[in-house]
Amino acid sequence: MKSPIREIFVSAQGEGPYVGYRQLFVRFPKCNLECQYCDTPKDWSSESKCRVESKPGEFVEYDNPFSSEHLLSVIKLYERIHSVSLTGGEPLLYAKFIKELKTSKFPLYLESNMTLPEGAKEVKDVVKYVSGDFKLKDQCDFKGHYEKYFNDTARSFSILRQTSFRDCFCKIIVSEDIDREDMMHAVDQIKDCITELILQPVTPTGGVEAASSKLLLELQDKALEKVENVRIIPQTHRMWGAL
Ligand code: SF4
Repeated sequence: MKSPIREIFVSAQGEGPYVGYRQLFVRFPKCNLECQYCDTPKDWSSESKCRVESKPGEFVEYDNPFSSEHLLSVIKLYERIHSVSLTGGEPLLYAKFIKELKTSKFPLYLESNMTLPEGAKEVKDVVKYVSGDFKLKDQCDFKGHYEKYFNDTARSFSILRQTSFRDCFCKIIVSEDIDREDMMHAVDQIKDCITELILQPVTPTGGVEAASSKLLLELQDKALEKVENVRIIPQTHRMWGAL
């Protein structure tokens, strides 16, 4: 199995409960959604090359696509890494390829929009950490099919739920105009699948309004009625200029 990869680099996790851990990031191209606050470059026009960090801040180019064996051999070159973050884009578009990474030197940490349950089934036995988003109806262009995406997201959380082997947590992006009812409906669907819920205040870009601390604390209080652990954690990599 082969897959295009956009870039491979070392950084620290910038979001959620594993914030600050040193990770190897493997960024897949393409996404099946268009979120209003997306900070991932959309220019996937050149997928023929993947840039790989060979030394801190120095990159070399590898040809695409990668075989799973080739990616595993690249992962082996790194040391002192907490986990391999599979990010994008949407990694579950490449689920069959990810399934073949089960012998990775470091545990696999999936960052997903959770809208592809068939992909979730493929990777459920190989990912140790699941950082799953729950996208609400005003946050993405669902092209009139929000209910389907909502149900698919709930299914993906159920498939990738927390177990003794796997930590699964959910991240919901909060902007000032968040639909509270929609958010609580989402929390209801996944509350038994996750170890914790992260409310991530949106990083204001492109006219998206930041959430007030009053709103964040109000939502945290409401969510705590359903989920034992609810934390407010902003994106931190933006604070120190990391990738
Ligand atoms: S799911 Fe993630 S990568 Fe895809 S458009 Fe939304 S924010 Fe961007």
